[in-house]
Amino acid sequence: MFKSDLCDLCGDCLVECQWIDADLQQAVGWIQAMINGEQTPVLEKCITCYACNEICPKNANPFDLIASLQEKYNTFISKEDAQSTEAKYAFAGDLKSCSQVDRVMTTCVFQKTDPHLIEGELYELPTIGGKPYFCWVLLSHIGAQSIQEKHAKEMVDRLALTGAKEVVCFHDDCYAMLSKLAPEYGITVPFRPIHLAEYLAQYLKANKDRIKPLNIEIAYQRPCASRHTPEKEHFIDELFDLAGVKRVQRTYDRKKALCCAGIKLMLGNGDPRPDQEKNILDAKENGAHAIVCLCPMCIHSLSGVAGENNMPLIFLGDIARMALGEIEIPIF
Ligand code: SF4
Ligand code: SF4
Repeated sequence: MFKSDLCDLCGDCLVECQWIDADLQQAVGWIQAMINGEQTPVLEKCITCYACNEICPKNANPFDLIASLQEKYNTFISKEDAQSTEAKYAFAGDLKSCSQVDRVMTTCVFQKTDPHLIEGELYELPTIGGKPYFCWVLLSHIGAQSIQEKHAKEMVDRLALTGAKEVVCFHDDCYAMLSKLAPEYGITVPFRPIHLAEYLAQYLKANKDRIKPLNIEIAYQRPCASRHTPEKEHFIDELFDLAGVKRVQRTYDRKKALCCAGIKLMLGNGDPRPDQEKNILDAKENGAHAIVCLCPMCIHSLSGVAGENNMPLIFLGDIARMALGEIEIPIF
């Protein structure tokens, strides 16, 4: 939710945005106009990367303001298309009863779309996933943020039915929903969400004697949803340290991370390739042998341009599997 009382109209959110070319005067004018509920060029230029929420020094959540206006003015999709997208993802059947366990992993929709990323001993814990547990964070990428909020409670309630005290989130978006967005919507989350990186680091620590350091230099592709939960970033670094992986310093990392730009394709909002090339060349020029992605959607989105530039993409979970000797390290 945008907190207008915290906004001091500094303009940082739009000046530092990597997708909207705004000088300070424009930025301040556009923010003021949007606070007044008006349409601005920001709505169409924004690729919904959430970065401005992290950039804002006052924690005013400027993306939430932009997203509410994108919905109001049907910037990306009509109300009818938003409703049919909602119908596509909504769960309407009977929920299978789950055995009561202390810890469960939610795989969101990825057991269906990317089952190869959820294989091996790391995933031998009770898992749930599919439509009943869909986190809906995708909806704020298409200008339908109210639908994301509308379904948040049912997601939390269904996860709570597992009786788990801890829910490991395979997808960064689910973690963002459970640890940040749902509480902002006033929803009580009656279990501890655990980020995939925390879970993987815990697992490696518990199996330290089995780790074979990978000794590779990688670039990290920080996904959009991580802008909601920067406090968990240290788990990523901890995981890399445990696995013997060096995260190279480069321009497009941490606060300056560049969105994979897949959203541009989805929204018909311009060609993502120039930005993807910029991102991959930045990794290459700074000595990375591969790019490690936390979000499977980044892998899908970047794979074409990465392949053309001989840059392997590795899923974060596979780093842990490689360190445990479960799968091979790619030959660079
Ligand atoms: S969400 Fe991303 S693209 Fe949109 S205004 Fe914020 S920083 Fe810019
Ligand atoms: S939303 Fe935050 S960054 Fe943007 S103008 Fe207001 S205070 Fe500054």
